[in-house]
Amino acid sequence: MKYLYGDRCYYCTRKFGQNLVRTLDHLRPLSRGGTHHLWNLVLSCPKCNNAKSDRTWFEYFLTEEYHRRLNNGLRAIPEKPPRPKIEVIASLEF
Ligand SMILES: [Zn+2]
Repeated sequence: MKYLYGDRCYYCTRKFGQNLVRTLDHLRPLSRGGTHHLWNLVLSCPKCNNAKSDRTWFEYFLTEEYHRRLNNGLRAIPEKPPRPKIEVIASLEF
């Protein structure tokens, strides 16, 4: 699972480690007809897993709570992502 999603929480994108444990989350909760199939499972931090509760991933993405948590999680990511290589883009043929 951790190779599928880069070992980050699927929801807040924080990286798992000593201070952040992995939990398995069902995109569609079992209580809502979800299954244990791989395509219904993601790795999630405990806080996101609890916050999502028995909502589907899509219902959770629409909540204000999710966006607040996402903003908190994104602070862990470097502010300036590496710039895309313009010369590679310019050499593409259409
Ligand atoms: Zn999370």
